[in-house]
Amino acid sequence: MRFKLCTALVLAASSLLAPVTYADTNMEQSYAEWPSYAASDLELKVDGSGTHFTLWSPKADAVEVRLYDTDRNTPAVETLKMHKSDNGTWRVSVPEKLYGKFYTFAVTVDGHQLDETPGVWAKAVGTNGHRAAIIDFANTNPEGWENDRGPVIENITDAVLYEMHHRDMSMHPSSGIVHKGKFLAMTEPMTTSPEGASTGIDHLKELGVTHVHILPSYDYNSVDESNLPANQYNWGYDPYNYNAPEGSYSTDPGNPEARVREMKQMVKALHDAGIGVVMDVVYNHTANNDDSNFSLTAPGYYYRHRADGSYSDASGCGNETASERQQMRDFIINSVKYWAQEYHIDGFRFDLMAIHDIETMNEVAAALKEINPSIFVYGEGWTAGDSPLPAEQRALKENVAKMKDIAVFSDDIRDAIKGHYSNAADPGFATGKPGNEETVKIGIVGATAHPQVDYSKGNNSKFPYASAPTQIVNYVSCHDDLMLTDKLAKSMPGSTEAERQRAARLAQTIVFTSQGTPFMWSGEEIFRDKKGVHNSYKSPDSINAIDWSLKTKNADQFEYYKNLIRLRREHPAFRMTTAEDVARNIVFDKVSTPNIISYSIKNNAGGDAWKEIKLVFNGSKEAYTAKIPKGEWTVVAYDGSINPDGLFTTKGGTMDVPATSALILARVK
Ligand code: CA
Repeated sequence: MRFKLCTALVLAASSLLAPVTYADTNMEQSYAEWPSYAASDLELKVDGSGTHFTLWSPKADAVEVRLYDTDRNTPAVETLKMHKSDNGTWRVSVPEKLYGKFYTFAVTVDGHQLDETPGVWAKAVGTNGHRAAIIDFANTNPEGWENDRGPVIENITDAVLYEMHHRDMSMHPSSGIVHKGKFLAMTEPMTTSPEGASTGIDHLKELGVTHVHILPSYDYNSVDESNLPANQYNWGYDPYNYNAPEGSYSTDPGNPEARVREMKQMVKALHDAGIGVVMDVVYNHTANNDDSNFSLTAPGYYYRHRADGSYSDASGCGNETASERQQMRDFIINSVKYWAQEYHIDGFRFDLMAIHDIETMNEVAAALKEINPSIFVYGEGWTAGDSPLPAEQRALKENVAKMKDIAVFSDDIRDAIKGHYSNAADPGFATGKPGNEETVKIGIVGATAHPQVDYSKGNNSKFPYASAPTQIVNYVSCHDDLMLTDKLAKSMPGSTEAERQRAARLAQTIVFTSQGTPFMWSGEEIFRDKKGVHNSYKSPDSINAIDWSLKTKNADQFEYYKNLIRLRREHPAFRMTTAEDVARNIVFDKVSTPNIISYSIKNNAGGDAWKEIKLVFNGSKEAYTAKIPKGEWTVVAYDGSINPDGLFTTKGGTMDVPATSALILARVK
C-alpha cells in the first residue's frame, strides 16, 4: 500500500466532527508512563466461572459494557458497569456463559462518553463489525483442524510467494468457482474455466507456488457488509477490527461464527494442498481517527502526533500508530500470534513496515518463530510520509541488517527490471533501457555485499543493506502500481503482445533466479491485465477479476512460469542463505554491452546437484553472442523457452542469446 487510498475518506469524516484532540507534546511524552496490560484475557474471556470483560483504558473516568441480542439495530438488553482494576484496566464479570450475545464498550473520558466500540480485541463480530460477538471458538474449527499444519520450510528463501485478492481469484464467470469472492472459493477443488483449464486452488497447485499472500483479510471498513449484492470491491487497507476476519468474504456477515469458520476452511484447504497462507497486516494506521476502536478505548495513546497535537501521517491515510509504546507493541505482537495460533497463518506481510520500530518487528519475528519456526515475516521497508519516529528506529529497508528474521521488498530489482513504478512509460533493463545493469545485479545478490557489485551505481540504494539474502523479497509487480502486463504495454510502445510476453518472461526469470525470496502478483502467469489501472484498490471486478480463459489463450506463458518456479524449487543454488555463500559462489562476467548481464553460480551452491549454472540476461533489442566455457552443458532456458530437465545440450563456445530473453545453462561436472 503506497497510495493515499483513504485520505479523502478521512478528511470527509473529520470535517463532520468537532476537533477533539487528546494529545499535545507533553501528552506524547507521558504516554510512555502509562501502565500496560497484555494478558490474553483482554476484553473478553469465557470460562467455567462465566463471562469476563477487561478493557484497557488507563485514563477513563468510567467504562460500561453493553450487551445485545443481535449484531445491529436493536437496543442494549443490559448495561454492566466496569470497575477500575490493575494496570489501567477496567473489569466486570457475570456468572453465565454469554455465548450468542453481542457487546460493546462505552468509555467516559474527561467527562464525556465516547461512542460505543467493540474494543480493539474483538475476535468475532457481527455485520460491519460494530458489535463484538461472544462465540465458542471450538465450534468454528473445520474437521481435522487439530492436525492441520502449513508447509514446513527451513528458510523464507524456500518460499515462492503468490499475492492474491479473494475476489480477483474467483469473481470472473470463467473461474467456475461457486463461492465467488469468498474465503470458501479457495476450498473448491476441480474448478475449471470454460476451456477446461484448472482454476482456483487447483491452479495454484499446478503453478507450484508454496504460499499465497492474501490481501487484507481482517475486518476492514470500506465494504458495506449489510449490502453484499452491491458487490463492492476494496483491497482492504482500511483496518477496523484487527482480530476478526472480514465479513464480506464470508457467506453470512451477520453470523459471527461463519467468517471465522470459513477463513479456517480456506486455510485448511490450502494447507491440504501443500500451500501456506501469508496474511497482509496493516497495523500502521486505522481507517478512522477519533472514531477508530483505538481512539474510542484509549484516546490519543495508540497514535503518534505532531507538535501541534494533530495526527501525524506517515501512512498517507490520516494517521499512524505508535508501535514504540508498550500497549501498542504488545497489541501487534499478540495479534499476529493470535492469527498464527487460531488460524494457523504461515507468514505475515507488514504494510508500510517502516512506520513500526525495529524493536517491535524483531519481537514480532521472535514471537512467531517460537510458535512455529516455519513462519516468516516480510514487509514494505518504507513509509508513505514523514514520521516523528526517528529514522534510525524505523523498520526501514536500509535498517534491515538490524532485523535478522525480517525480509524487505527490493524496490531496487523491481524498478531496475521494468522501469520506475511512478513513470508508466519508463522502460527498464528487460525492456531495453540501459543504465540499470548494476541495480539488477544488486537484486541478483539479494542486496548483500558482493565484490563485483558497485553499489555507488545503484538507482535506489547505495549500500548493501541486507546482511543475508533471506532478508530480501524480489519482485517486479504486486497489487500496487501498474501490474507487469500493463507496465509493459505502457513502456513498450508499438510492441506486439508476443513481444511483451517475452519481456515478462525475461523479467520474471531474473526475479526467480535471484538470491532472496521470489514474489509474484496473481494472474501474471496467464498474462492477465488490469486495463491500465495503476491503483485499482476500489475498481470494479471488471478491472480486478482474473479472466481464466486467458490460461488457455496464453498457455505457453503459463507453462513458462510453471517451469520457472520448478527450476527454482528444484535448485538450492538460487536459494542461498548467507551473504558469504553469495559472494563466494556468484561470479559476474565482464560485459561492456548495455542491457546484458552474464554470471555464474558456482561450487554446487547450496548443495545443488549442478556444479555451475550460467545465466545470461539479454534485455537489449538485439541478439547477443555469449561466450560459454567448454564443458558438458545442458541448456535449460533459451529464446523464451524453459525446461528444468533441459532443452538441448552444448559443449560451450559461443551462443546466441536472442533479444529480450534469458539463457540458462547448467553443468554437473
Ligand atoms: Ca468489514
